[in-house]
Amino acid sequence: MTRSFFGGLYLLLFGAADILYGKDIFTAEERLWLDQHPVIRFAPAPNYPPVEFFDENNEYQGITADFIKIIDQQSDLGLKLEIVQLASWDKVVSEGRSRGVDMWGAAEKTEERSRFMLFTRPYIRLPEIIIVRNEFAGEGMEALKGKKVIGIKNYASYEYLLENFPELNTLAVSDIEVGLRMVSYGSADAIVATNAAAIYYIEKNGLTNLKVVGESGFEWNLRFAVRDDWAPLLSIMQKSLDSITAQQKRDIYRYWINLDSSEGWSFAKDYMFIATGGGVLVIVLILFGWGFRKRAEIKMQRLTQRIEEQKKLEEELRNLATTDELTGTYNRRAILDMAQNAYQKCIDEGQPFSVLLIDIDHFKQVNDQYGHEVGDRVIKAIVNVCSDILRVKNVGHIGRIGGEEFVVILPMIDKIEAHAVAEKLRKYVEKEPIQCVENTLYCATVSVGLASLDRTEKFDELLNRADMAMYQAKNTGRNRVSICREIIAG
Ligand code: GH3
Ligand code: MG
Ligand code: MG
Repeated sequence: MTRSFFGGLYLLLFGAADILYGKDIFTAEERLWLDQHPVIRFAPAPNYPPVEFFDENNEYQGITADFIKIIDQQSDLGLKLEIVQLASWDKVVSEGRSRGVDMWGAAEKTEERSRFMLFTRPYIRLPEIIIVRNEFAGEGMEALKGKKVIGIKNYASYEYLLENFPELNTLAVSDIEVGLRMVSYGSADAIVATNAAAIYYIEKNGLTNLKVVGESGFEWNLRFAVRDDWAPLLSIMQKSLDSITAQQKRDIYRYWINLDSSEGWSFAKDYMFIATGGGVLVIVLILFGWGFRKRAEIKMQRLTQRIEEQKKLEEELRNLATTDELTGTYNRRAILDMAQNAYQKCIDEGQPFSVLLIDIDHFKQVNDQYGHEVGDRVIKAIVNVCSDILRVKNVGHIGRIGGEEFVVILPMIDKIEAHAVAEKLRKYVEKEPIQCVENTLYCATVSVGLASLDRTEKFDELLNRADMAMYQAKNTGRNRVSICREIIAG
């Protein structure tokens, strides 16, 4: 499938005028070469978000697509570019070899590929990071010894894992999205993937129980590549890349790495954008623990009107999304927002306030024994039971804050009454038969931590106390309600 990429829509300013000052960056020979080559067939990686990909409308999108748009602005290249949408990265490589296409984006330079393509200097460096579930203890590759670690099939980074870390129980999956879900759901311990792609898919899938515990040591150095009998195109591309400013690159990253949407994760993150000598940008991810959230102040510069509008729309949609898709109850963001407001109101009015933290017992066993679909059904059933009781009693609200963890907020309810509510939820859950497979019923149990406002403390601290109490309930046999009395310092 081919089509011309650039129409009037893209002829918007990226601040290119600042850079060129009207001067042509190309030599007379390069201009001549461009005149003699009216079409350059460009094949991006079809599915490598946010670096480059085709969206649901088959539009070419991503960091590299925005680089190309700026290059078009600055060098008049775009009118010549014919975007070729191929089915897979393998196909992109084989078409490059057989001269079915002339140029690639986002390619790692290898010996094999260097036999028929010429590569620009890297324009993105993406470190590979290690992603695990929140409960994982340990840091760095050393912590992964003997663990089930996922890499991506046919990726150079997977070879790197096999060669450098033979002590891992490494397995390959077809793409990052599949791998992240497997880690989130407990079918593997860790995945090694680029931070940018991981963030993209974590957000897309709403995987709230993951964290990052370091870098794998592998770094992608992504470059444009052109067929090796078209050397002038290499210098044209290199000059074009060199003329993109650090600010323009930062804007592109900020848009695609989507810094504004980290709300709702169980960890917060800041990014640093470091411009190195070569003008390449490296994205570094720094993580903070839950409750120690520190957000970077971001002032987005406009990329294009189109991008700006799209972003606003996405943000609106995200803000509107207060519902957890699986259970239909409040999602993490919504319940925590509600909790903050209700909590402050109760403090202001001198009213009691209680919170419950509920975690399903031995839930991994449910997934292992019956599969994730049944696991999902159990989650839904438990939320239904709890919601019904709260509705009938006309107290509180329930929200899903993690995979199989829920918060119940109980404004105006003191400890004694909250304990009665918690006990009722626990008992009804225990009694609810859930259909697993044909003719098999399963009765799940939950452990509940309860904390009530009894002095001035922040809502986060109250929630922390409920969390501690929940762990106490786990440690004392599960299927019970535990009350936290102690105030946690700091
Ligand atoms: P414990 O009694 O100590 O809580 O044991 P547990 O097995 O429930 O352990 P834990 O709470 O740590 O595990 C939660 C598991 O829930 C991990 C993950 O595989 C699974 N999970 C998380 N989200 C989902 C989901 O949306 N659907 C399904 N089916 N499973 C999920
Ligand atoms: Mg849990
Ligand atoms: Mg559990």
